[in-house]
Amino acid sequence: MKKKIIIANWKMNHDFHKTTSFLRNFLKIVLEKKINHNKEIIIAPSFPFLHISNQILQGTNLKIAAQNIHQMKNGSYTGEVSASMLKSIGISQVILGHSERRKFFLENNDILLKKIKIALKYGLHIILCVGETGFERNQNQQFNVIKNQLVETVFNCSADDIIFFHIAYEPVWAIGTGKNATYKQAQTMHEYIRSLFLNKYGKNISNEISILYGGSISNLNARNFFLQKDIDGGLVGNCSLELDKFLEIIQS
Ligand code: PEP
Repeated sequence: MKKKIIIANWKMNHDFHKTTSFLRNFLKIVLEKKINHNKEIIIAPSFPFLHISNQILQGTNLKIAAQNIHQMKNGSYTGEVSASMLKSIGISQVILGHSERRKFFLENNDILLKKIKIALKYGLHIILCVGETGFERNQNQQFNVIKNQLVETVFNCSADDIIFFHIAYEPVWAIGTGKNATYKQAQTMHEYIRSLFLNKYGKNISNEISILYGGSISNLNARNFFLQKDIDGGLVGNCSLELDKFLEIIQS
């Protein structure tokens, strides 16, 4: 059976003290209750705390992800962080294409494809976010939008590279709004995304690719999302910031 994947996206939250104390407490509970069994749990703190976070979780199957990388290998890009820098501190995962990056930092599919290529070059695993806006859904454009986001990014990669990807379907209108997609809306889109992988890469890859839902997942609704046939886990924002809620989501 495929492992369920739960990812915490902490965005620009939690300082050094909160990050380290959360992770130490989290680790203690996870090991005591063995709730990491048969699950992949990934936490994405801010850049300054990636190294210490990775050290805290060392020797466990819990992983740390970065929330972004720059598309260039190195150079005069003040304030940016490269894939090779992450690699040099033992980080193996990166979230790319989050809607907040697309909206506030104007990351389009061209830039994203460059980020994907450099991430793959350094052997980073990619959590690739896709999602339509509320306007696009109202225009019934959600399937075209998601297809386009995949065609212009991950679908430029070879079948051998797909093992490095998880896809996160995150309807923009559901992120941080408390207004989650219905289980049916999410399942329908996940099934569609899987069908696109089937057409492009064939049956094995389409069965194996993990497609996560993100958008106002909470301890109250997580279980119903995770019960859907094509939902392989979740990308959690707000509710991953509180230890109790995040633990409940994992145990869903
Ligand atoms: C996210 O930012 O990826 C996210 C899903 O946030 P939230 O859970 O707060 O909607």
